[in-house]
Amino acid sequence: MSYTPYIAIIGGGASGLFLARKLSENPQFHVTVFERGKQVGAKLRASGGGKANIFNRNIRPKHYNKVDFITALLRQYTPKDLDRQFNDWGMLTVADSEGRVYPATQFAQTVVEVLTDYPSDNVRIETEYDIQHLDYQNGKWRVNDYPTLFDTVVLATGSPAGMIPKNQEGYNQYLKDSHLRIKRLEPSLSGFILKGYPKSLSGCRTKAIVSLYQGDRLIHKEAGEIIFKDNGVSGIVVMNLSSLYRRLADRKNCKLSINLTYWDEEFDLLSFMESGHNMKGILHPKLLAYYNRKPFYIQGLSFDIEDTYPMDAAQVAHGGIAVSEVDEHFAAKKHRNMFILGEMLDVDGLCGGYNLFFAFASAAVVAKSIIQKHQPN
Ligand SMILES: Cc1cc2nc3c(=O)[nH]c(=O)nc-3n(C[C@H](O)[C@H](O)[C@H](O)COP(=O)(O)OP(=O)(O)OC[C@H]3O[C@@H](n4cnc5c(N)ncnc54)[C@H](O)[C@@H]3O)c2cc1C
Repeated sequence: MSYTPYIAIIGGGASGLFLARKLSENPQFHVTVFERGKQVGAKLRASGGGKANIFNRNIRPKHYNKVDFITALLRQYTPKDLDRQFNDWGMLTVADSEGRVYPATQFAQTVVEVLTDYPSDNVRIETEYDIQHLDYQNGKWRVNDYPTLFDTVVLATGSPAGMIPKNQEGYNQYLKDSHLRIKRLEPSLSGFILKGYPKSLSGCRTKAIVSLYQGDRLIHKEAGEIIFKDNGVSGIVVMNLSSLYRRLADRKNCKLSINLTYWDEEFDLLSFMESGHNMKGILHPKLLAYYNRKPFYIQGLSFDIEDTYPMDAAQVAHGGIAVSEVDEHFAAKKHRNMFILGEMLDVDGLCGGYNLFFAFASAAVVAKSIIQKHQPN
């Protein structure tokens, strides 16, 4: 008689769905995905402004908060492997000039459809199942009071980033009895709330070089589009800086400096201004009005940082289950037959496809482990 390994995946997001799709290639497994929401892949559908920036061609460990951990992961699974995998599953990809990769349809829904197009009928999806209890007895996992007992449980419940505040309450409460070391969750990849910031700038967008300082020390600077909001700024460059801000052990005396002379690499805006042009053709009218009222040096609009925007405005969470709780195959060290993957681990990356890459790559590594473990001798 052949043996059927029963696998429970808690969380039907990017990582959980990727794992289920991979395991469905092997009809020997019986896979159940438990999703607390009404449908699977909700965050994935919203990612990349609905286009899903699924990975980046130029992924380096330094793009993440956990450099050594990502170095070990990239030895096992690379962006090329991920591209090949999506191609094998029938999804073509396109990349932009900065190596950001999207489905060729430029439509995030395509990714969810590809990940739920199972080659065999061994995957069961249980939606509106909020898992709060996991119990391991006699070599089997019980998940809430679900009638099936599982050989392996995979935790893939992500983070509360980007969720409306009331949905964040009780998030991952089921982990509280798990004895896993969990670093406090904080918003990352979100904008900055700034002190003394003029509300009048709200709604304008401009290109700028934005620098994060702590005291006089430059932490990082990046050029790109920034968006002025009611009480602070946002945009991809600002989100990247917020990620580096989160990594600081002490975040006192941080400020953001906004240099408005950035246009593009070939155009020298300062020389353009110095040759006598007035600023009407250069600055957004709201910035011009602010400049006229309170002249600032165009190279150095500077504000003290009060905080980042909260979790619901963030793309990822900083913090989560410590990476020391898992081995290089994402197997939990303290619990038998348990894997932990994706954003619920304390791993976060910059904007540009780094976080979805981590979710998918960690799922690919776990799939390999599970398949190897249950290979008939
Ligand atoms: C607006 C937005 C845009 C983004 N855009 C990009 C992008 O373009 N590129 C990129 O790389 N990253 C992007 N990210 C980040 C990326 O989406 C996440 O890092 C990624 O989805 C994490 O995958 P995951 O599987 O770990 O978690 P998720 O995809 O969040 O999946 C976790 C799932 O588990 C479910 N769940 C949680 N708790 C339970 C429970 N107790 N029981 C059952 N189910 C549960 C959740 O409902 C969810 O469906 C974006 C994030 C946001 C918010």
